[in-house]
Amino acid sequence: MPKETIKQNTQCRMCKGENLLQFLDLGTHPLANAFLSKEDLLKSEPRYPLRVFFCTDCNLVQLVDVVSPEVMFRDYVYFSSAMPTLSKHFEDYVEEVYDRFIDSSDNFAVEIGSNDGILLRAMKAKGVRVLGIDPAENIARVANERGIETLSEFFSEALAKRIVANRGNADVVIGNNVVAHIDDHHDLVKGVKSLLGERGVFIFEAPYLLDMLENLSFDTIYHEHLSYLALAPLTKLFGKFGMEIIDAKLFPVQGNSIRVYAARKGAYTVNSRIAELLKKEKEMRCDKIETYHALAERITELKKEVVGVCRQLKKEEKTIAGYGAPAKGNTLLNYFGIGAETLSSVTERLPSKIGLFTPGMHIPVRDLQEARANPPDYYFMLAWNYKDSILKDEKDFLSHGGKFIIPIGKERII
Ligand SMILES: [Zn+2]
Repeated sequence: MPKETIKQNTQCRMCKGENLLQFLDLGTHPLANAFLSKEDLLKSEPRYPLRVFFCTDCNLVQLVDVVSPEVMFRDYVYFSSAMPTLSKHFEDYVEEVYDRFIDSSDNFAVEIGSNDGILLRAMKAKGVRVLGIDPAENIARVANERGIETLSEFFSEALAKRIVANRGNADVVIGNNVVAHIDDHHDLVKGVKSLLGERGVFIFEAPYLLDMLENLSFDTIYHEHLSYLALAPLTKLFGKFGMEIIDAKLFPVQGNSIRVYAARKGAYTVNSRIAELLKKEKEMRCDKIETYHALAERITELKKEVVGVCRQLKKEEKTIAGYGAPAKGNTLLNYFGIGAETLSSVTERLPSKIGLFTPGMHIPVRDLQEARANPPDYYFMLAWNYKDSILKDEKDFLSHGGKFIIPIGKERII
C-alpha cells in the first residue's frame, strides 16, 4: 500500500475556489468495494471519513477526503458484463453513439474506465477502432484476453497525448461512472480535449445530483464518488477549457443517472434539453446551501425510519436477508448501522463477491440461488435501483408471501 492513502482537498476540484461548506457527515467508512475474505476479518479494516461539501462558487457537491486512486482502483471487484441489466443499457448506448457520432469505418473510440470491455466489444463489432483504459490490472487483463485492447493506466492529459501520437485523435471518448471518480477535473477535461478530434464528442454517465435530492439516494455517496454531478457546475467546467455541453439525457439505470455529451465550443448545436435541465436545477435550488442542509436532515430521518422498520420485524422474529451486494449498499448499511444481527446474509449473483463479507458490517455474502432454496421472510433490497427487474425475478418469493423492504424511495414495503 502506498504511504499516502488519503489526502484532504482545500480547494474545489472544479473551480479551484476555497469556499467549501460541509453539510453532511456520514462518519468513517471502509471502501464500499472492499469486500473481505474470512482471513481479512481478523485484520484491522481501514476506514476513511465520508463527509460531503458544497462549493458556494461553482455549486459542485463533493467529497474533500480523497482516498488514493491506487488504493481504490488497482484491484477492482466489479465486472460490468456480469450485470445483465447493464448489458441491454450498453447495447442501446452503443447504438446511439454509433448512429449519432460515428461516420466512417476509420473512426476511433476510446473508453476511460472501460472495465472488462463490455461496451467497446459492441463498438468493435460495428467495425470501429477501439481502445480501453482502466487502471484495474485484474480487469484490464480480462479485457485484453477477450480481444479488447486495454491500457492498465489512470487517465491523464499526458496519457491522452501519448495515445494521439501513436494512434491519432479519437472521434468519441466515453467515460461511464468515471468523471465522478476523478479528483483532478482540470487534467481530465484537458486530456479529453487533446484526445478528441475537431468534431469529437466526450460522452459520460454519472449519478445525477437531482436524484439524490428527489429520492434521497444518498447511498451513491462513497469514497469512489468524489463528485455528485449536476449540469450547472459541469457547464462552467467545460466552458473553462473551450468546450461546451451539447446534450444531456436522464436514465433510470443505477438510480437516476445523467448522460452528458460535450464537444469543442461551436462544433455542434446545443440541444434545448440543456436549458430545460439547467432551469430545473435552479428550481430545485441546487445552487443554495439550504437545500443541502435540508437533504442532510431528511437522510437522518430516513435512517430512523428504516432502522425502526427492521427493529420491529426482528421483534416479530421475522428473518431478513439483504438482496444484492452493490457497493452503495455498504454506505447504507454502515451509516444505518445494520449488520448481521439484522440481516442474516446478503445475496448476490456475482461470483466474485460470493463467500466474502461486506465491508464494515461484515455480513456474509451468499449465492442468490442458494438463498432462493431457503428464502427469508423479508428481503432488504440493497440493489433498489434494479427494483423492477428484481420484483419480476422474485415473483415466486412474492407469491409465497415473501416481502421486500425498500430502503430508498417512497415505497417502504412491497
Ligand atoms: Zn467550485
